[in-house]
Amino acid sequence: MKEIHFDKIVLPSEGEKIQVAEDKLVVPDRPIIPFIEGDGIGPDIMRAAQGVWNAAVAKAYGGSRKIVWLELFAGEKALQRYGELLPQDTFRAIEHFVVAIKGPLTTPVGTGYRSLNVALRQRLDLYACVRPVAYLPGVPSPVSHPEQMDIVIFRENTEDVYAGIEWPKGSEEAHKVISYLNREFHLHIPQDSGIGVKPISQRATQRLVRKAIQYAIRQGRRSLTIMHKGNIMKYTEGAFRDWAYQVAREEFPEETITEKEVQEKYGGKTPPGKVVIKDRIADSMFQQILTRTDQYDVIATSNLNGDYLSDACAAQVGGLGMAPGANIGDLTALFEATHGTAPKYAGLDVVNPSSLILSGKMMLEYIGWQDAAELIQSALVKTIQQRKVTYDLARQMQDATRVGTSEFASAIVENM
Ligand code: NAP
Repeated sequence: MKEIHFDKIVLPSEGEKIQVAEDKLVVPDRPIIPFIEGDGIGPDIMRAAQGVWNAAVAKAYGGSRKIVWLELFAGEKALQRYGELLPQDTFRAIEHFVVAIKGPLTTPVGTGYRSLNVALRQRLDLYACVRPVAYLPGVPSPVSHPEQMDIVIFRENTEDVYAGIEWPKGSEEAHKVISYLNREFHLHIPQDSGIGVKPISQRATQRLVRKAIQYAIRQGRRSLTIMHKGNIMKYTEGAFRDWAYQVAREEFPEETITEKEVQEKYGGKTPPGKVVIKDRIADSMFQQILTRTDQYDVIATSNLNGDYLSDACAAQVGGLGMAPGANIGDLTALFEATHGTAPKYAGLDVVNPSSLILSGKMMLEYIGWQDAAELIQSALVKTIQQRKVTYDLARQMQDATRVGTSEFASAIVENM
C-alpha cells in the first residue's frame, strides 16, 4: 500500500485499500472502507446500518469477504478531537481509500460555518449527487400508485447557488457588487439587498450529464430528462439544458435520440435500444412526477432543482427516512443518508435507518458486491411487509408494530 500519513487516524491492522486501475475499481476481499458517523441521529443509524451491511456481506460470501471499517471524523466529533469541524485527515482519507460512507452532518441556517456536506462534495470534486428513488413493496405512501416511481436523479453537486458565493445585506462586498452592477449595467438593485451568485458552467454541466447518460445506457433505462428553469434563467439553467443536449448529440449519437425526433421521425414510437433525451421546466416537473410518474426514469438537473426534487420524490415512496444517495466524482464516491441530523431524535434509537442502509446497498453495488446488496434489499422489504417498522412508517400504516432503530436493524438481519 502507498505510504500515507495521517495526523490522528490510526489505520486498521487488517484490510487493504481499494485500488484504481485503468479507470476501474479493483476491490480486495477485505477493503478498508472509511465511515463518518455523523451528528444528531448519525450514531444511531450508523450503528444499526453497519450491523446490517456486515451481516449481509458475511451471509453472501461465507466469511471470504469482509469490510474493514475505518472511522473518520467530521462535525461535532471532529471538533472534539481535532478542534475543527472538517480536518484534513478526513479529506485525505476519503481520497486515498476511494469509497466511503457518511451519516448526516449539522449545518446551522443563516449564520456560522458553511455546510460541511457541501465542503466535502466540493473539495473532493464529487460532482454527481446520485439519488435513486424507487418504491419498496409494503412501504406506506400518500399517492395511489407509488409503484410507478422508479427514477434516478443525477444532481450537479459543485456549483449553482451552492457555490457559496454570497454576501449579506449591508456588507462591504454586497455594497461593492450592487454599486458596480447599478453603475455599469444601469440596474436598480436596492442597496439593502443580500447578494448571491449562481454560476453554471459548461464543463460541470457536461460531466454530470455524461455520467447520467452513461448510467442510463448501462442500466437499459428508457429516458433521460433534463430538468431546468431555463425559461427564466436563460444563461444558467437554459444553458444547462443546451449543454446537456449537446453531450447527448455529440458523444452518444448511436445510443440516444431526442423526444422531438421520436415524434417527428418515428411517429412517437422509440426505436429499440435508444435512450430518449427530453427536457422539462422545473415547476412542471414537480407536477409531472406526481401525475405521470412512470414517464420519468433518469433525471439530470442542476444543484438546487435536484435538492428540491429528490425530497419531493422521496415523499412519494416513504419519505426521507427511506431515500438513499451518493456523491460521486470520476471514481471517488461518498455514500450518504439523504436526510439531516434530525436533532430532536438524537440518541433516542427511534429513527428509520433505511436511508443509510440503502445508501450502503448502493455502495456494495458500486464495489461489485451485488449478492450482498440484493440480500439487504430483500430482507428490508420482508421486514416492512411484516409491518415491523420505525415510527415514521408506523404512523402512516395500520396495524404496524412500531420498533426502534436497533430493533428494526436486527429484524432485517434475521430476515436475511
Ligand atoms: P432533517 O434532519 O432531515 O429532519 C427533518 C425531519 O425529517 C425530521 O424531523 C423527521 O420528521 C424526518 N426525518 C429525517 N430523518 C429521518 C429518519 N432517519 N427517520 C425518520 N424520519 C426522519 O432536516 P432538518 O431538521 O431540516 O435538518 C437538521 C440538520 O441536518 C440541519 O443542520 C441540516 O443542515 C442538516 N442536514 C444535513 C444533511 C446531510 O448531512 N446530508 C442533509 C439535510 C440536512 P418528523 O419530525 O416528521 O418525524
